[in-house]
Amino acid sequence: MSALQPVRGTHDILPEDMRRHRRVADGARGAAALYGFQEMATPIFEFTDVFKRTLGDTSDIVTKEMYSFERGGDFLTLRPENTAGVARAVISGGLLQQAPLKYFYYGPMFRYERPQKGRLRQFHQIGIETIGVAEPLADIEVIAAGARVLDTLGILARTTLEINTLGDSESRTSYRQKLVDYLKGHEGALSEDSRKRLDRNPLRVLDSKDEGDRKIVANAPLFDDSLTPAARDFYAKVSDGLTRLGIAFSRNQRLVRGLDYYCHTAFEFTTTELGAQSAVMAGGRYDGLIEQMGGPATPGVGWAAGVERLSMMLQDPLPAPRPFAIVPIGPEAETMALTLAEELRRSGITVELGYRGNMSRRMKAANKVNARAAILIGENEISRNAATVRDLDTGEQAEVPLQALKDRLVQFR
Ligand code: ATP
Ligand code: MG
Repeated sequence: MSALQPVRGTHDILPEDMRRHRRVADGARGAAALYGFQEMATPIFEFTDVFKRTLGDTSDIVTKEMYSFERGGDFLTLRPENTAGVARAVISGGLLQQAPLKYFYYGPMFRYERPQKGRLRQFHQIGIETIGVAEPLADIEVIAAGARVLDTLGILARTTLEINTLGDSESRTSYRQKLVDYLKGHEGALSEDSRKRLDRNPLRVLDSKDEGDRKIVANAPLFDDSLTPAARDFYAKVSDGLTRLGIAFSRNQRLVRGLDYYCHTAFEFTTTELGAQSAVMAGGRYDGLIEQMGGPATPGVGWAAGVERLSMMLQDPLPAPRPFAIVPIGPEAETMALTLAEELRRSGITVELGYRGNMSRRMKAANKVNARAAILIGENEISRNAATVRDLDTGEQAEVPLQALKDRLVQFR
């Protein structure tokens, strides 16, 4: 470990990467806005209890992945995800009277897990939450907004949508019992993690990535047989809605969100393009969450997506915008270049000012910043109140009166 390295699992986002990152965040924000989701932000750290109470003592996140610290007697945690923070915000801000609430968020999340491609310790998520709507229409809309985001980014066709239903609490209680009975019969063959989950969080075993567990899970009882008629009806409405919108999906009865407050809809958009990290967007309905946090019983549904994973899937390179380079020749031109550059920028034109050197050095600098054209100013140009504009792609050049310069530069777009 060296203090001059980025912390393992974190990375610097340099400009080229940042443009992809921005494209994902801005594209998602715009797509979500079409559905009425408005951006909000919660603090990057919360009282540890916010996550303990919502994610529960048995989740991987709470048991292994949180960055927690104590400061001034308070126990705090860097947020591992944002749904708990949003729920806390609507309770503490007294916003539930205004429900339904529809939020979009974007920001860094922190999880202490094993870093690999597409898995970081500081990563970013975009997400949406609809709070206060119990109807399946909200689930449909949330999934449709997710598909719209992926479509806006040009990657929808390279993902697969899987959905499942976890039913209402009655369905889950009855299923949990059947599942535990089945798993107990294979207890000796389960991984240690799954054995631990057996009593406290058995649904999570369905989600295990362990090979041996997967074989056992393959023959586990199916959730469908435990669904109440009401739960069955809810799922039918969600799947009908998606079908009517032309959103392709497949049912995956092993898909779970392993937390107690999740119910009904669970879904994931996955890809085969990112190796072992296949989930790009995951979400579901969490009707029990706000009550579990100490607020009034309030339904909710939403999703979160990994910005780094999505930006790896963007195909086109995102080149930096090309500036114009002012190349002054001589001290008088240099003085003039400074004010000219500022005047052009005031009109929204991107301008680079070479900082030093003779003409050839400054032309090199212009090429280095990939300038679209150079604006050359020497004694002759000054005496005629003009500049020479050289197209750096074709090499063509022409003298342009200064008052016509903006119009000429705009033509390069
Ligand atoms: P995984 O199964 O990959 O661990 P998860 O179930 O922990 O995902 P969620 O908590 O549902 O993930 O988060 C939603 C999305 O955030 C994921 O689908 C993924 O795109 C992204 N994500 C989660 N953890 C990380 C991470 N450590 N690094 C980068 N992206 C992540
Ligand atoms: Mg995880």
